[in-house]
Parts: sequence; structure tokens; C-alpha cells
Amino acid sequence: MHEVNTDTMIEARNLYCGYTEEPILKGISLQVAPGSFCALLGPNGAGKSTLLYSLMGYLKPSAGSIHVFGKDIAKAKGSFLARQIAFVPQESTREFDHQVFETVLMGRYPYLGLMQAHSAEDKQAAEEVITMLNLQSLKQRWLSELSGGEKQRVYIARALVQNTPCILLDESLSQLDINHQLEIMSLLRNIHSSHGKTVLIVSHNLNLAANYADCLIYLKDGKLLAEGKPENLMQTEVLHSLFGVRLDTVINPNSGRPNIIYP
Ligand code: ADP
Ligand code: MG
Repeated sequence: MHEVNTDTMIEARNLYCGYTEEPILKGISLQVAPGSFCALLGPNGAGKSTLLYSLMGYLKPSAGSIHVFGKDIAKAKGSFLARQIAFVPQESTREFDHQVFETVLMGRYPYLGLMQAHSAEDKQAAEEVITMLNLQSLKQRWLSELSGGEKQRVYIARALVQNTPCILLDESLSQLDINHQLEIMSLLRNIHSSHGKTVLIVSHNLNLAANYADCLIYLKDGKLLAEGKPENLMQTEVLHSLFGVRLDTVINPNSGRPNIIYP
């Protein structure tokens, strides 16, 4: 048995990773503490999705390493990772068409034995998450018949039913209306505070990220530009170095955190 180190949920050590010989991620060192709520921000093409893919073990690093609870994922079994981290992809165009209930139930896969069918407990877990996300009316519908926002909520449900200590979400709010964006962020925050779940979400909604996340991670050109509290990073100068645009900020009286104001 390997010793599980619970000091860091995810750690990247001098990570280089890409799709060809040319690396997209260039020397990223990063620690995500267990129980933290982090938002990964940066311009299009910065490498945010690539970073999530490598943390999920979908892309092999050309140099450096990734550790989950202290374990090098290159040496871990797939089932180890699947029980630690659930992933909500931005879009799943390559997926086969399935019904909503069946899709959510797929989140139980790390708990199934070989050739084993879903238990009543698995189905109960899927039902609970479906209720939590107000997806009851869509249960029998096919994914191909859903709107982008509805599909995202199904993928979030599938990730929650996986019951992992950590969840990674790639731009899961982008296709949601404001009501559902707030609903998902509140839900993530509730799960984060009641179950201590570690959340890492890629978002382009800077204000939501600043209001809900405790730590922001700024990624630019495949490198870590900054990492820290929203109070320190939601500042005009840092935002300018990240996005190359001047953004003024004010303190949001509701959250007490700096928010950008649109020009
Ligand atoms: P972000 O999520 O921050 O917008 P990505 O991680 O998707 O950025 O992309 C980072 C870079 O990697 C981009 O230059 C993009 O063109 C490139 N890239 C993304 N996916 C692939 C792929 N499958 N094959 C080759 N290059 C890719
Ligand atoms: Mg992306």
C-alpha cells in the first residue's frame, strides 16, 4: 500500500505537457489544498483545459509530475484517480447518446466491480443528485435533445454522484443562464463547505469566481502567472497582465470581494 498524503489534494511539479513535441504547459508548479475552492482563470488558449486534462491523467506530461494525495498519478491505478477526482468536461461531443438517468448513473463506475451491474444504492445516489440539481423532468430524455446548459447540469450531476473528494469543472457555467450559474456556484459552495469537497473550476466569469472561490489561479501562455486570494488578485494591474485589458474593480458589498466593473 502506498502512503496517502492528505496535505495536498493535487500537486503539479514543474509540469510540461502538450499534444505534440511543443509543450503547451511550460513548467507549472501548483498545489491545491484539500477542501479549497479554487478558480482557474486566464485568456483563451492559456492552457486551462490542457492543465485539467493532465491533472486527470488524460495527457501524459513530457516532464514533471502530478501527485494526488501525495501519490504520483503516473504510478497510480486508474481506479485510484477515479475515486479521488471527478471531471466535468466543457463539452462532450464524442459521447454516445444516452438518457439522462443512465448518464448520471455512469458516475458510479469507480465503484463497480468487473461486469457488475449497478446496485440499488447506486441508483438511489443518482436519484438524489438528480433531485438536488432539479433534473427530475429530464430523467428519461436523451442527451442529444438537451440544450447546452441542461447537458452541463447532467455532467455536473454525473460528477457529483461519483462522490469524490475533488471535482474539476471546465467552463461549466459558460452555457448556463444567470439563474443556473448562481445555482451551480451555490451548490458547489454548499458541497464544499458541508463535505469539504475540493473544487477547481475554470471560469470566464471573473466576478463569480472572485465571490465564490477562496483562491484564484491565473494561467497565461502555459505558465502560472499568479496564485492567491481574490482580494489580492482581483486588482487592475494583475488583471491587466493576465488579460491585457484595463479592468477597474470595486468591492462588492454582498461578498466583500473585489469585482470588476465593466467599462
Ligand atoms: P484554454 O482552455 O485555456 O482556452 P487549451 O488548453 O484548450 O486553452 O489550449 C491551449 C493550447 O493548446 C491552444 O494553443 C490550443 O490550440 C492547443 N490545443 C488544445 N487542444 C489541442 C489538441 N487536441 N491538439 C493540439 N493542440 C491543442
Ligand atoms: Mg478550455
